[in-house]
This record gives sequence, C-alpha cells and structure tokens, in this order.
Amino acid sequence: MLLQPLWTFLLGHSSLLCSPFFPVIFSLSAYLCCCLPFLLLDLLSSRWALPRSYKLQPQSSVSWASVRSCLALTLYNHLMFILPLTLIHGYLRPIQLTPQAPALPHLLAQVLVCLLLFDFQSFIWHLLHHRVPWLYCTFHKVHHTNTSPSALTTEHSGAWEMLSLGFFASTTPVLLGCHPLTELAFFLLNMWLSVEDHCGYDLPWATHHLVPLGLYGGARHHDLHHLKSKYNYAPYFTHWDWLAGTLYTQQD
Ligand SMILES: [Zn+2]
Ligand SMILES: [Zn+2]
Repeated sequence: MLLQPLWTFLLGHSSLLCSPFFPVIFSLSAYLCCCLPFLLLDLLSSRWALPRSYKLQPQSSVSWASVRSCLALTLYNHLMFILPLTLIHGYLRPIQLTPQAPALPHLLAQVLVCLLLFDFQSFIWHLLHHRVPWLYCTFHKVHHTNTSPSALTTEHSGAWEMLSLGFFASTTPVLLGCHPLTELAFFLLNMWLSVEDHCGYDLPWATHHLVPLGLYGGARHHDLHHLKSKYNYAPYFTHWDWLAGTLYTQQD
C-alpha cells in the first residue's frame, strides 16, 4: 500500500518506462548522478584539508585526464554494447507492467536477497578473473589501471566485464520473479553501492559504518583491493572473503 502512489505515478509514465531506449538512458543518468557527489568531494578535497581527511589514500588525487578517460570508456561501452543489447532484449522480452505495487517489506526482502546473490556471483567471477592470468590480462586488468580508485573508476572496465556484471545484476531479480519496482530499487541500490565502493572516501555515513559487526566491507575493503589486488574480491559483504581466506581489513 505504501508504494502504490509511487507505482501509480510511474505507471503514468509507462510509455517512457517501456521505451527500448529507457534502460540505457536511465543506467547512464543514474550512474552519473551517483558519481556527482563524489566528484564534487574530489574537487573540494584538492583545496581543503577537511574533506581530504576522509580520503582512504590521502596522497592520491583525481586528475582531469583520468576523469576524461573514465567517462569516455563508460560512454563507449553504453553506446557500442549496452544500447544494442538492451534494444534486442526489449524486443525479445517486452516489459510487463502490473497495476499493483509490491508490499514494502516484500520489496525490501527481495532487494536484500538480490544483493546477497549478486555479491556471491561477483565474488566468484572476480576471484576467477584474478586467479586465471589470461582472464586477468584480457579482461580485468583495465579496471585495475588506478590503484587509488575514484567514483568514475566504477565503470572503468572493458565491455566483457561490464556486460557480465550487468547480466548478473539484471537476471537475478528476474529469476526471483521480482516486481518491476523491486528491480528498479535493486538496480539503484546496486549502482549506488558499487560507486560508493570506488569513491575513495571513508565517510562517517558510508554503508560499511551503517551495517554492524563488520559484515559489510564497502569502500574501505574495495579500496584495499585496488591497492593490494590479492584480497577482498566480494564487492559488498565480507563473509565470502572471510570463508575463502582472502579478507584483508587493515592498511599497513
Ligand atoms: Zn573496483
Ligand atoms: Zn580486481
């Protein structure tokens, strides 16, 4: 019931939601909106000590050249690969919009399950790309160009990596039979968390400070992955790295 007004509002724009161009425009805009606050923080931290004190690697700074190259690669991947694939997908599986909104507790539970499953799929996939030298050199190395990541590093990867992770993220809610609003909520949360992973800041309100008992690694762990590369393969939670003996929590 709580979500019905929002869903009714979105249904009023169903022609936009069902447009074959919507997924790629939405994905690109949501990504840039998630990156924007961290880009502003990068700008501020290059001038002031207070924002710089939250940087995970205080000696690092973000150059315009790296911003340009990250943006260029993101735009190239969206135009050359994601757009044609979403057009084919939209043709083969047109979006079905039901008039009923999902119940909020159901949406939250399904988003959490999607997040846990995506975390597991990404952990296995990421580990494989570090353990098999051919996979690392051919596909994953480009994502490790920067040892000190910034928000735009999130999608600084080749088409193979971007599409495979996009495949995990988009098929998981479909396999669970999620409502389109739940898919949308998972997509936005997943996007925000992956940008936060790469932001390069240990902010007091970051997700790894909000989730108790060290269950969530987030920005601090993924920053260490870019620095050390042999640890912290799971994007979000810490349990898979803990079980695999690849969890690294301290910088030395
Ligand atoms: Zn990364
Ligand atoms: Zn890696």
